[in-house]
Amino acid sequence: MKIEKNVLIMSLFPNKITKLFDETFNTFKSYEQENAEKFIESLSDKIEAIAVMGGTAVSSELIKKLPKLKIIANYGVGYDAVDVKQATLSNVKVTNTPDVLNDEVADTAIALSLCVYKNIALANQFLLEKKWLKSEYPLSKKFSGTKFGILGMGRIGKTIAKRIESFNCEICYHSRNQKDVKYKYFSKLEDLAEYVDTLCVITPGGEETKHLVNANVLQKLGKNGFLINIARGTVIDQKALIYALQNNIIRGAGLDVFENEPNVPDDLINLNNVILTPHIGSATVETRYDMGKLVYDNIVQMLTTNTTLSPVN
Ligand code: NAP
Repeated sequence: MKIEKNVLIMSLFPNKITKLFDETFNTFKSYEQENAEKFIESLSDKIEAIAVMGGTAVSSELIKKLPKLKIIANYGVGYDAVDVKQATLSNVKVTNTPDVLNDEVADTAIALSLCVYKNIALANQFLLEKKWLKSEYPLSKKFSGTKFGILGMGRIGKTIAKRIESFNCEICYHSRNQKDVKYKYFSKLEDLAEYVDTLCVITPGGEETKHLVNANVLQKLGKNGFLINIARGTVIDQKALIYALQNNIIRGAGLDVFENEPNVPDDLINLNNVILTPHIGSATVETRYDMGKLVYDNIVQMLTTNTTLSPVN
C-alpha cells in the first residue's frame, strides 16, 4: 500500500519498521543528516507526520516550523521530550506506545533489582579476573521476602508488582492517587521510602516529577535501602544520589536512566554499589518491533482517517 504522504523520521527504528515506512510513505530521515536542522527546514512545507524516539526533542520551535504537521508519533511510552502543549495549540496529535512494552520494562526492573542485590556484575568480574582461584566471592544480600516499594503504580508499575509477588516480597507503592490494587498505599513518598528495602521508580519524566526522589527521600530509604530507576533520569536528583551512594546513606542502586544521557558522570561509574545500563528498559528486538509497529499504525491511521490508536493529547 502506498500512501502519498510525507513522513519525517527523526530517529533510528528497527530495519523492518524503516522498510515498512519506506514502502508506504515518502520518507525523510533527519537522523542520517549531518545538519538535521537545516534538512528539516528545507522540508518544512511538506512534512505531515513525525516518527521519533522518546529521547529526541520535538520542541515548540520545530512544531511551529511545520504548518502541515498532523501527528507526532513517539516511539516510547514516555513523551516528555515532545512539547505536547505546543502540539495541542498547533492542532497536532501526539501518540505514544503504551502497554506493548510493559513486560519488557518490568523484566528490566527485575533484572536490575536482582543484579544489585546479588552483586552479579562484580561477581562476574571476579570470576573473569580469576580471583575465584584464590578466594570465595563475598556474600551478598537476599532479595526474596524484602519490602518492595513502587513509585508510580501505572501500567508498568503494575506489571512489575505482578512479577515481584513471586519473590514473596511485601509490595507497597506511592502515586498521587490510590489505585484499585491489593498493595499497601502510601500517600507520602517519604513514608514509602522509610518503610521499604527497595524503591523502584517508574513514573513519567518531565517537570512534574523532576527530582521527586531527593536527598530527603534517599535519607529515608536508608543505609540498607536500594534504589532502582527505570523511569527517567530527571525523576531523581542525581547529585544527591551520588552523594548518598558514596556515603552509604543508601546501600546501592540499579539505574537504567540518567539526567544527561548518554553522559554518565565518572562519580557514578566509579562506584561499586551500582549497576548501570544504557537506557535499555524496552530494548529487545521483539519489543522494539512492537513499539515501532504501533508508531507506524498511528501514522497510517492519522493520515488516512484522521484518528489515532494511542493518543496523548
Ligand atoms: P503510566 O501508566 O502513565 O503510569 C505512570 C504512573 O506514575 C501513574 O500511576 C501515575 O499515577 C504516577 N505518577 C505520575 N506523576 C506522579 C507524581 N508526580 N508523583 C507520584 N506518582 C506519579 O505510565 P507507564 O506506561 O507505566 O510508564 C511510566 C514511565 O516509564 C514512562 O512515562 C517512561 O518515562 C518510563 N519508561 C522508561 C523506559 C526505559 O527504557 N527505561 C521504558 C518505558 C517507560 P498518579 O497519576 O495517580 O500519580
